[in-house]
Amino acid sequence: MHIILLGTPGAGKGTQAQLIMGNYGIPQISTGDMLRAEVKSDSALGQQLKTVLEAGELVSDDLILQIVESRLRKTDCANGFILDGFPRTTPQAEGLDIILGKIENLNLKAIEISVPDEAVIRRLSARRICAGCGKIVMPQESTPKKCDDCGGDLIQRDDDKEETIRHRLDIFKESTAPLINFYREKGVYHKVNGLQTVDAVFADIERIIK
Ligand code: AMP
Repeated sequence: MHIILLGTPGAGKGTQAQLIMGNYGIPQISTGDMLRAEVKSDSALGQQLKTVLEAGELVSDDLILQIVESRLRKTDCANGFILDGFPRTTPQAEGLDIILGKIENLNLKAIEISVPDEAVIRRLSARRICAGCGKIVMPQESTPKKCDDCGGDLIQRDDDKEETIRHRLDIFKESTAPLINFYREKGVYHKVNGLQTVDAVFADIERIIK
């Protein structure tokens, strides 16, 4: 099972990737998580990436392709994977094609989770992530201040500020939206309504991947 999750920031790709991973045992490959881990490590590369991520800009295609290619070579990807937040540009999708070309029994589905911009802005402004384990939390009034999985602090991502969210949406329209046609032409594109409950979106995804 080789799944590409497409959709604007805040569409629910990370949440659905975690559900697919839990139910089907294939790893979530989130380029955003990998980049944030690099920033957290405070390496020289991490310091450069921090500025790019905070501004909501895209990291270079070459670097992203290098990171993804070496990740997909790991043994846990042998039975499939979920790509979350990658590819985001046509050169990345073309680079991915070359990587996928080496996989036998490729079963590729590109699934767009579709959510209107205003809902994305509302969601992302409210979203918190656990500083410890990265779990995504949508706070309700009753939600505790700490992660219920690991006890870590729930914090707002630097790029989840309204101005940066709008910029990330513009970048999506310009650079990532063309991928919908890219995968439609390959006959592997599917779309689900991301405005439903998390469980209903997952049920739609399961109908596509089963
Ligand atoms: P995400 O967690 O997927 O929203 O990604 C957070 C940030 O990481 C993005 O706003 C970009 O700065 C960077 N990023 C993540 N994935 C990619 C990618 N495939 N190409 C370029 N930049 C990326």
